[in-house]
Amino acid sequence: MTALPTEGSPNVNTLLPTALVGSLPKPSWLSEPEKLWSPWNLEGSALAEGKLDALRIAAHEQLRRGIDIISDGEQTRQHFVTTFIEHLSGVDFEQRETVRIRDRYDASVPTVVGEVSREKGVFVDDAKFLRQQTDQPIKWALPGPMTMIDTLYDRHYKSREKLAWEFATILNQEAQELEAAGVDVIQFDEPAFNVFHDEVHDWGIAALERAAEGLKAETVVHICYGYGIKANNDWKSTLGPEWRQYETSFPLLQQSSIDVVSLESHHSHVPMDLIELLRGKKVMLGAIDVASDQVETPEEVADTLRRALQFVDADKLIPSTNCGMAPFARDVSLEKMSALAAGAGVVRAELRGAGA
Ligand code: ZN
Repeated sequence: MTALPTEGSPNVNTLLPTALVGSLPKPSWLSEPEKLWSPWNLEGSALAEGKLDALRIAAHEQLRRGIDIISDGEQTRQHFVTTFIEHLSGVDFEQRETVRIRDRYDASVPTVVGEVSREKGVFVDDAKFLRQQTDQPIKWALPGPMTMIDTLYDRHYKSREKLAWEFATILNQEAQELEAAGVDVIQFDEPAFNVFHDEVHDWGIAALERAAEGLKAETVVHICYGYGIKANNDWKSTLGPEWRQYETSFPLLQQSSIDVVSLESHHSHVPMDLIELLRGKKVMLGAIDVASDQVETPEEVADTLRRALQFVDADKLIPSTNCGMAPFARDVSLEKMSALAAGAGVVRAELRGAGA
């Protein structure tokens, strides 16, 4: 397993290294801003070039604002699940069915019509491009197997578990190639883990471990309460004063082969002591709210991190965002990045002062 961040890299904090969960807003010349899953504004070779230009900007803004583990900001994908699936065979994007996603909202989704397989790398070239932008550790996010099957209509396998297992095998192929391209951290996004608790227990963790099998790169699972969109905010308002969904998955993940767990914290109703259930694992803690465009102060970020440090060892805490920042105005996302880096800096100084 690669220790993160790489020792000896210049300008990388080895204590409390910061990382974004995933998406950043795209430039307005690439797609319509402040909108999730917005269509592209360019076509053909101009689109290919525009995506990489946006990726380059996203990486450099993270570097400039003091983020330690650099990601692509998901600039080359329209949707965190379907863009991956679009590159697979066995899924028909013309045949669409309306299904209930995350047991929460209806969406028109593509249909699995035959055996699913991956003919070639999906994000491997983009990851190579990100690798060229920095010597700092880089992180790449993929959808998790359970979240993938929950974003499709299945007419072929007719079994959520069987299809998840097929996707896990495909994800592992992609992850191995991302690792070979120089990706240090591979993240699987599994928001479905907060909804389908029985399936998480029965086969969800096993499918996730299959996706991560044999990787030397550090592996992360990101489990959140979703982007700050209305369907998710409405759902959150039904969850009561304490959000205890993580209570099912954390003890299982603590026993699993996954290295890092990424969770939502700041402004959420997740009791901080649930992190104790992960003791021994690294924790990527959401100290930036993605449902409000009010920018946190460094002191607010620091306060969230200090409270987390009661339940996670300092050498295992990775300050992060609650989820992706795609729906924000660009300047808000940039200021939130700076706040994250500054807040982590405050706590880092305190820990060093205390001789940690
Ligand atoms: Zn998320």
